Amino acid sequence: MRDAAILWFRQDLRLADNPALAAIGERPVLPVYILEDGPWAPGGAARWWLHHSLAALSAALAAAGAPLLILRGDPRAILPALAEATGAAEVHAGRRTEPAGRRCDAETHAALEATGRRLVLHRTALLHEPHLVRTGSGGPYGVYTPFSRAVFALLEGLPPPIPAPSRLQPVAEAPQGLALDALGLLPQPPVPDWAAGFHDHWQPGEAGAAARMAAFLAEGLDGYAARRNDPGVTWGTSGLSPHLHLGEISPRQVWHAARAKGGRGLETFLKEVLWREFSHHLLWHRPEMPETPLRSEFAGFPWRRDAALLRAWQRGRTGFPIVDAGMRQLWQTGWMHNRVRMIAASLLVKHLLQPWQDGEAWFWDTLVDADLAANSASWQWVAGCGADAAPYFRIFNPVLQGEKFDPDGAYVRRWCPELAKLPDRWIHRVHEAPEIVLRGAGIVLGKDYPAPIVDLAEGRARALAAFAEVKGAD
Ligand code: FAD
Repeated sequence: MRDAAILWFRQDLRLADNPALAAIGERPVLPVYILEDGPWAPGGAARWWLHHSLAALSAALAAAGAPLLILRGDPRAILPALAEATGAAEVHAGRRTEPAGRRCDAETHAALEATGRRLVLHRTALLHEPHLVRTGSGGPYGVYTPFSRAVFALLEGLPPPIPAPSRLQPVAEAPQGLALDALGLLPQPPVPDWAAGFHDHWQPGEAGAAARMAAFLAEGLDGYAARRNDPGVTWGTSGLSPHLHLGEISPRQVWHAARAKGGRGLETFLKEVLWREFSHHLLWHRPEMPETPLRSEFAGFPWRRDAALLRAWQRGRTGFPIVDAGMRQLWQTGWMHNRVRMIAASLLVKHLLQPWQDGEAWFWDTLVDADLAANSASWQWVAGCGADAAPYFRIFNPVLQGEKFDPDGAYVRRWCPELAKLPDRWIHRVHEAPEIVLRGAGIVLGKDYPAPIVDLAEGRARALAAFAEVKGAD
């Protein structure tokens, strides 16, 4: 069956608005997912999501008539063999920006070409093509604002999303694959099921993504500009990031749906969606970004690696309620509000002087939306060593940030229930609360809730001194 094609799913686990699927058209198709090993393989929380997303995709493909083949291993060897077995002349897939993925794709294409076949890549995950969008002088963008202006202009003529096909024609003889469970993506005994509570917050898969988009349009978009920094507010932001990461919804669907709805929050929301594009643009052009500071003067930064401090931060036991609430939200739901990600990351790399790569690694393992481009770009941004980064000397004070963005302590009370009875005035300053207030709220500092692990003024001074050592930094 020479005219068959393989549809290789990676980070575009959907049937609607999938240009790789659309390119196959009416031809017999073998949909395949291959779990790959290698650098930056998905972390624990992202694996949980992937399991459930693949389950949803499998069900949708089976209903459409072409069941998903699940495999594990090296695509460079697997795909030529599959093409041979099915007679497929082409493999269609979405383009990816991760360096290991790009390498793998180039080598898979070469392996297919050696037998007269080819890998055809489509734009499934982004609104722009990182290799095509260029500055006036022909280089890549390193600053967000001009990048977003250029992409906004390009998107004026963005075609509408492609509807999902109702029927697919399967290949005549599909090879035998693995059962989803055999991938071992879920927490395995004897490890406790740390993801047990995730289902209360998320519905992975294309239908869950569409439902979340619809709810956000109804409940959140209009107030987005005003409420996106308030972590205690329901629908302050969309919560679409894990769905976007695995492509259960395309950025084009998000873009069009938001524009069709319109309203006061629209422009701010679209600009955030373009931060995602910018991160991928950066990763494409600076593939070293996940490991290496983009500003080379940070290579010798005098970090003070300390396992106990890192552990206290990871467990949400820093003594700064907004940070602890965020780290516990992360552990319990696999997600953290953006404002709190910035505050928690800043405490780690600035007041505590821990390397940004350690925070990046923890987020990689615990976020359901862990995304190599967004995570590494954001950590470098907070640490001051990235493209268009926050200046290093702009150091968030977690107490003031908490008071500003969670003034009534709703967010802290939810994730740090031991603080629930504190009056608003002390909710972000537990360590300064008078003894009588603490007693009234049932808190013994250092027992029920930790004393701060760093003195903020000292931590700030130490961070600034460390920064001054970075030669040539401004
Ligand atoms: P919304 O506010 O509803 O925004 C809509 C979409 O825009 C998001 O779903 C996301 O895809 C994109 N977006 C919004 N803000 C950003 C941003 N600053 N950078 C890139 N894309 C953005 N985002 C990830 O998707 N994966 C990560 O691994 C990740 N790690 C981060 C680490 C740190 C230290 C920080 C400070 C931020 C990180 N972010 C990451 C960015 C941001 O926090 C999340 O995208 C956002 O919180 C997701 O929530 P939402 O879907 O409700 O966002």
